[in-house]
Amino acid sequence: MFFMAKLRPALFLKYMMEFITKQSKMNKTILLDSGHGFIIASEYQTSGKRSPRWPDGTILYEGECNKQIKSRLMEMLQAENYPFVDINPESTDVSLSERVNRANKYENSLYISIHSNAGGGTGCELFTAVNCSSASTALAREIEAQYKPHFEGERWRGIKKKDFYVVKNTRMPAVLVESFFMDTERECKKYLMTRAGRDRIALWIFTGLKNYLKSL
Ligand SMILES: [Zn+2]
Repeated sequence: MFFMAKLRPALFLKYMMEFITKQSKMNKTILLDSGHGFIIASEYQTSGKRSPRWPDGTILYEGECNKQIKSRLMEMLQAENYPFVDINPESTDVSLSERVNRANKYENSLYISIHSNAGGGTGCELFTAVNCSSASTALAREIEAQYKPHFEGERWRGIKKKDFYVVKNTRMPAVLVESFFMDTERECKKYLMTRAGRDRIALWIFTGLKNYLKSL
């Protein structure tokens, strides 16, 4: 305090403003949305949004996979004291408008929506809204930069622009992750249906997200 008192008022104000700005960046609330519903009494809560039945009889339910990846990501955030909110903690399938309403209550925040892809392709991709903020693009680029270090040899499909409801209608920087194809057997079995694969997807997103927060 003695040191501070000796500073000229303008300089003191400058330091205070820098401190407050730094604090608010550090305290950005990370809003996590996992696509679709979960499982209640063995009953998947979403129609469609699942893999084919594989020859061994197993099926991947996308909402279950997305939620598990989100859970792992929340563990990582918790361990390093990043503030976060689970936008859809329910097992039911929360409507897109409700997800957006919940998210838009948080001022100093960012939004990550976790999905798994379908349509018979390979690899991962990220989406931002068509007219997204530069912050959304910056967040997407940091996550993109961590893809190859985590998934060497796998295809990167790029950052794409599409007005998915949640990225278009949320007010904070927002990205939607499409992690691997649930209807491509190798990717589904290797990454989406294994704990190790889900952990690695969560770690990929976590590392990119941390780099984005550090860059602010
Ligand atoms: Zn989805």
